[in-house]
Amino acid sequence: MDLNIQDKVYIVSGGSKGIGEGITRAIAAEGGIVVMATRSKGVTETLAEDLKAKGRVVDYVIGDLQDEGQCEKIVNYTVNKYGRIDGVVNNAGVNDGASLEKGPAAFRASINLNLFHYFDLAHYALPYLKESKGSIINISSKVALTGQGNTSGYAAAKGAQLGLTREWAAALLPHSIRVNAILPAEVMTPLYRRWLDTSFDDPVAKEKEIISKIPFEHRMTTSDEIAALAVFLLSDKSGHTTGQFLFADGGYVHLDRSLT
Ligand code: NAP
Repeated sequence: MDLNIQDKVYIVSGGSKGIGEGITRAIAAEGGIVVMATRSKGVTETLAEDLKAKGRVVDYVIGDLQDEGQCEKIVNYTVNKYGRIDGVVNNAGVNDGASLEKGPAAFRASINLNLFHYFDLAHYALPYLKESKGSIINISSKVALTGQGNTSGYAAAKGAQLGLTREWAAALLPHSIRVNAILPAEVMTPLYRRWLDTSFDDPVAKEKEIISKIPFEHRMTTSDEIAALAVFLLSDKSGHTTGQFLFADGGYVHLDRSLT
């Protein structure tokens, strides 16, 4: 299937690690141009060089998405260099354990870390998305719907991303801009590894326990499986799909757990 994203331009926040890396690689493999909006320079440069060696067009803007002006800078850089924006993938996030006990300052910091830049990137990219009739994807989380315990800030931000998905899908109907959310559940990434290693006395046992409860094939979802869904949602092959919450989670959220 030709996804028809060749030479189209996409911004992927957190695009050089974990799920974001998967999305960057998948867009590039289809001939799309990716501008990664990331914080860690070394790993981002390495990924860009790897993909450029394969003939792909991949670029990046380094900086903390929480910094005022960073999202505008990313959009300006992309438009000045590539002349258009066809899609935004809001993906950067951190499950930072800002619990009820930790208090208001940690909660506010977590919302800043996980939510505001989703709005800001979409806001600054909007004039260009109107021109291209582009697409927005918000990477949310199962935590928005299931909770996790001890992570109020992350849960609230992930839930808000679902609200924004529906709101933007409605608001942007007149511009033929589609907006969808993907809700991963269990994907082994640097973030997930850190969460396991810092949250449990026996991370190996916990990992085995979690995997045993994933209904489909008792395995984690791969970043590639999330990325394939993301690329489909960016492409015009999903031309009538908007305002949707898509679960690539091996049935984790919806299937009867007694089946596992
Ligand atoms: P990851 O491995 O930590 O990758 C996230 C990327 O985002 C990293 O490159 C990180 O950069 C970047 N990032 C985070 N905050 C940033 C900021 N303020 N400014 C610039 N870059 C920033 O995480 P992941 O597991 O792939 O998660 C990606 C998305 O999927 C997140 O929104 C997460 O909530 C969601 N998700 C993941 C899972 C899962 O099982 N992994 C499940 C549900 C939802 P640094 O390395 O510099 O921090």
